[in-house]
Amino acid sequence: MDFSEPSEAVQIKKALDEFIKQEVAPLETEYDEFLGADYEKHIVDEDHRQVPEYRNIVEQIRQKSVEAGFYGMTMPEEVGGGDVDILTRAIVGEHMSNRPPGFHSAIFGGAGGPTPILLACDERQREEYLEPLMDGEITTCFALTEPGHGSDAHHMDTRAEKSESRSDSERSGTAAEKDGDEWVINGQKVYITNAPYADFAMVFARTSGEDGDLGGITCFLVDEETPGYEIGTIHRAMGMTPGTHAEIHLDDCRVGEEQVLGEVDKGFQSAMDWIGGGRINIAAGAVGTAEYLLDLSVEYARDRETFGKPIGHRQGVSFQLAELATDIEQVRQLYRYAAWKMDNGERARKEESMAKLRGAKLANDAADIAMQVHGGAGFMKDLPIERNYRSARVFRIFEGTDEIQKRTIARELI
Ligand SMILES: Cc1cc2nc3c(=O)[nH]c(=O)nc-3n(C[C@H](O)[C@H](O)[C@H](O)COP(=O)(O)OP(=O)(O)OC[C@H]3O[C@@H](n4cnc5c(N)ncnc54)[C@H](O)[C@@H]3O)c2cc1C
Repeated sequence: MDFSEPSEAVQIKKALDEFIKQEVAPLETEYDEFLGADYEKHIVDEDHRQVPEYRNIVEQIRQKSVEAGFYGMTMPEEVGGGDVDILTRAIVGEHMSNRPPGFHSAIFGGAGGPTPILLACDERQREEYLEPLMDGEITTCFALTEPGHGSDAHHMDTRAEKSESRSDSERSGTAAEKDGDEWVINGQKVYITNAPYADFAMVFARTSGEDGDLGGITCFLVDEETPGYEIGTIHRAMGMTPGTHAEIHLDDCRVGEEQVLGEVDKGFQSAMDWIGGGRINIAAGAVGTAEYLLDLSVEYARDRETFGKPIGHRQGVSFQLAELATDIEQVRQLYRYAAWKMDNGERARKEESMAKLRGAKLANDAADIAMQVHGGAGFMKDLPIERNYRSARVFRIFEGTDEIQKRTIARELI
């Protein structure tokens, strides 16, 4: 058994540190208003949309990341990617999270960047969508969740019917129907990351079958200027970079047959094939964040004195840090094991969910302990702990809630 990190991961981490120092840090210094205590006020306008100056920084970093070969790192070489495996990507993700909040999150593009789901693109779609995405010229978003369905997304109301059942679908008010060579999509999506800035969306709609079937759902590539496609309310979300998530409204939105990604009726299953890697990345990010918070707390515990001694000399404080350090190591080994299994082509549903479940808990525990150890100073916005505390909460909700991870683990057991 070899617990050392793959040499590729070690090299990428080193190169990324240099890239951040050279390309990202100067922007963080120049535009510190987007990172300071009042960052939320500066990043968005009154409609909660990110201001052009902030978007411009994100785009600059994206372009530089493309040139340096970090963007699309996990995509295969045949589409211009770096072909790194799941374990390497996760280790690099852990490393990137082990630092204060900053602009470095733009390096990989997040939910707006290249995704293996788009490997299902045909030749024309590759040219029109995947290549410009890999080149950082455009961004995308993944539009699955709806107001009525999140954990049970396959029960979606944005559904598809053939044109003969138009009257039925019109009555239901939510349908995507085939009309000659076109599909007409109706429905609504919510909480969609990067929706306000995406040049095209991967929109999931039911095209056949019964409510709740895993089959019968199709993924459409919808350009943002398509009539009937509109960004609704931009959500005001806790802890995240403001102005990132929004509703998408689809009202008689017509797209051609050529906008179907992959096979009709198979969109949901193929998207789910990729979701495991996302869960592992979340767990890895949680480990990085937790370690960053642990380091801050250890330093503070060494320096801060009460009753004539550093607080780190009190077991009431040091034992919290000991527990946290243990949990970090536990989740690190768990996500690496899950990634290793996936890279070796083994089934890892249970391990992916275990890593995501424990990673989400770790991120929240770490923020809570860091705030407790820092006392009042941790509660104030001058330190990054307060922001991390708010950002951690979403780990238990997105990419499958805690309960959905437990459901998956239980299903694998029973
Ligand atoms: C910041 C953020 C970004 C997001 N980005 C995207 C995105 O880019 N694209 C996208 O499509 N979606 C996105 N989402 C949506 C996200 O995937 C959903 O919020 C999530 O899957 C939960 O769905 P829901 O909010 O509808 O909650 P629900 O499914 O309504 O769940 C409500 C509660 O019930 C529990 N519950 C539900 N079913 C069960 C069950 N069977 N057993 C036990 N408990 C259960 C849940 O765990 C939860 O506690 C994002 C969400 C957030 C918060």
